[in-house]
Amino acid sequence: MVTLLLIDDDKDFTEFFVAAIEESGIKCQVLNQSKKILQYNLTGIDHIIIDLLMPDFDGLQILRFLKESRYSRYISVTSGQDQSILNAAREICQLHQLNFHSVLKKPFDLSCLDALIIDHVDGGIIIEKPKPLIKNDTELLEQLKLAISTQSLEVYFQPKVDMVSYEIQGFEALARWNLDGAFIPPTQFIPLAERSGLIGKLTEVIVEKSLRYFTQFKHLLAHPNLSINFSALELGQSNLPDLLISKIEQHNMASEQITLEITETVMLQKNTLSLEVLARLRLMGFKLSIDDFGAGYSSVNMLQNGPFTELKIDRAFISELDKSDQSRIIVNSVVQMAKKLNLNVVAEGIEEQTIVDELIKMNCLTGQGYLFSRPMPLQDVIIWLENRFTSK
Ligand code: C2E
Ligand code: MG
Ligand code: MG
Repeated sequence: MVTLLLIDDDKDFTEFFVAAIEESGIKCQVLNQSKKILQYNLTGIDHIIIDLLMPDFDGLQILRFLKESRYSRYISVTSGQDQSILNAAREICQLHQLNFHSVLKKPFDLSCLDALIIDHVDGGIIIEKPKPLIKNDTELLEQLKLAISTQSLEVYFQPKVDMVSYEIQGFEALARWNLDGAFIPPTQFIPLAERSGLIGKLTEVIVEKSLRYFTQFKHLLAHPNLSINFSALELGQSNLPDLLISKIEQHNMASEQITLEITETVMLQKNTLSLEVLARLRLMGFKLSIDDFGAGYSSVNMLQNGPFTELKIDRAFISELDKSDQSRIIVNSVVQMAKKLNLNVVAEGIEEQTIVDELIKMNCLTGQGYLFSRPMPLQDVIIWLENRFTSK
């Protein structure tokens, strides 16, 4: 059974919350005195929901404590404060490399809990089996090396959809790691692979598997495009374009069908080699996408220098579109800028139709998100595509 922990000093609110959430079969523990978290046993807690404003020990101190305790399950924040504080808290979670789930702005009605409940009850993100006790990065690193050498990393696929015609524009391949029954999120193992120099080998496994799987369903697609994630660090490898060409040839794919989604998780020096690698990839026909635009270091600077064809607006802005004026202004400006630069724009992290409506008004027509489909393993992609086909 899934267990949540709600940390909030407002007793009326916690009673309301527990009653609502337990109706859906999710267990909920409560801490009204936030400082007690310091002694709390977090084993078996799948998701912690934290009020930001609390006497004694506030939500931000709790986030720091969870970082230090290496809490790796899901975290959401809630507050009646204005949206910019909630946004800052989310950013802090990401800086702490915590596994952020969502923002619950107070006051909220029961429908706000729906998305959270669906995630847990559908089993989409919560794994029932307990996570193995991995004490530190060194231990996880050993396991990751093994997972790479035995090619036990898996690949899931998530569609990019035209939000007006509902046509599928392509699929993004996402790495998945199941360690003894526990799901280790890519936000944890990708930075580890980057720090430890394993990222190149990891990418090789992912590229090989995604191409192999993709060839099993690309015949079902009008636009057989595959996007693969790359760390900007890998652009320092001068043989990357040749390696990719030989891989795609083995799988009878054309470079025009492949998009490299580049995320800059570390600030890169202005580097002629990475620019050269990007330019060669473009010359060879690959498409290049700036991923998570607006987050981390993926910035206007990258856009100015790199020969990109696509820009993906970070989920942090998209998920707030219907709630925050700041996000609406930022997304609208980014969409207009991208259009003027002739870039394909993709909105990531779409979970609600109201967000689709906002995006269409801004003329951003390609989207990706749980509303259309979660990332799926190969077998599910094929079933999903066949069902769409027969239901047309
Ligand atoms: P990304 O490339 O921006 O991928 C999108 C992430 O958002 C995925 O998380 C996806 O599962 C999640 N997502 C998609 N739609 C929704 C939605 O509607 N709501 C929410 N809450 N989330 C949504 P995931 O798979 O955990 O991956 C996280 C990041 O890890 C990726 O972000 C990417 O930067 C990195 N990553 C994943 N696979 C690889 C890989 O093979 N290589 C590299 N270098 N990085 C990877
Ligand atoms: Mg991506
Ligand atoms: Mg992204």
